Amino acid sequence: MINHQSPSIPLLVRIKPGALDRVGIYFARAGIRGIGLFVSSGLPASILERVRRSCEANGVRLVYTVEPKDASLESATDLFASLPAGCEALAGLGGGKALDLAKFVAVLANRPYYAIPTSLSNDGFCSPQASLTVKGRRKSLGARIPTGIVVDTEACLAAPLPLWWSGVGDLVSKITAIHDWRLAFHADGTPFNDFAALLSDATVFQFIANPDRDPEGIRTLATALMLNGVAMEICGNSRPASGSEHLVSHALDSFSAHPRLHGLQVGVATYIVSLLQGQGTENIAALFEKTGFWDAFANDPLPRSEWLEAFRRAPTIKQDFHTILSTRDVLPEVEALLATDSKLKTVFV
Ligand SMILES: [Zn+2]
Repeated sequence: MINHQSPSIPLLVRIKPGALDRVGIYFARAGIRGIGLFVSSGLPASILERVRRSCEANGVRLVYTVEPKDASLESATDLFASLPAGCEALAGLGGGKALDLAKFVAVLANRPYYAIPTSLSNDGFCSPQASLTVKGRRKSLGARIPTGIVVDTEACLAAPLPLWWSGVGDLVSKITAIHDWRLAFHADGTPFNDFAALLSDATVFQFIANPDRDPEGIRTLATALMLNGVAMEICGNSRPASGSEHLVSHALDSFSAHPRLHGLQVGVATYIVSLLQGQGTENIAALFEKTGFWDAFANDPLPRSEWLEAFRRAPTIKQDFHTILSTRDVLPEVEALLATDSKLKTVFV
């Protein structure tokens, strides 16, 4: 369905070194005096301390600080119910669960939400969805795009290397996602949004032009992942950010004995899907070479049998979602690629 509602975009975007020390200024300028803060478990204490100090120095109270144990709908409703008075906005600090929960509780509480990711492992920090489990099953629930995005590029640069590779993998998936979207438009009339596709495409190629793991490369990656979230908001669905490569990753998450980081799985699936689609492979391969992406699997190769099973299950994961996987039985091709492609051969066992 075409989204006829006007999209919302973040009102505040700060992507720069030392942004963590200025969080309090950003809240104070927006007239926010009390914050409910959701913090990732395992986050270095110094990061929370910097946010705390910055808020204190600017007269912003941390009314509520929580370190969520899981990212379930049940936890979200509990946290919403226990939200104290005075939380004028919610913020998620760190990554993954904490950000998804804060984003969703902000919808329940009808409060502005600020995303403060400290790594860039996927595009979730700025997407209009929250990935939560509902009765034990992972679901993508409707949420709102953040009111504010604060990315400290120095902090992200200090995050472990696999998280960076994961961000690269999730970003590059837009190449195959957009192609799947076009296929769906021609196959069954799925509405295609030119502007959202263009935005998504442009961000990937901007990053490909400067994929270094340095402050500038981190800024470009953060901007690109953020604009992908905005692209989803503009068209009202996840098509500009997620195609068949994401279905494969979702399938793996549902049964793999050892699921990897979202963007690592998605990145490998993107490379394979690009070969099935017959487009994009050259750019993807060059980017993976430059960023050392394949090294993520050097000591921990991927099981061929699980990935074949994931490709088998992928087309059944989402109803009415046409992709390259809907066009033919791709299993024999995937099997051959895993055995013969010069890169895939080295990362699969
Ligand atoms: Zn993704």
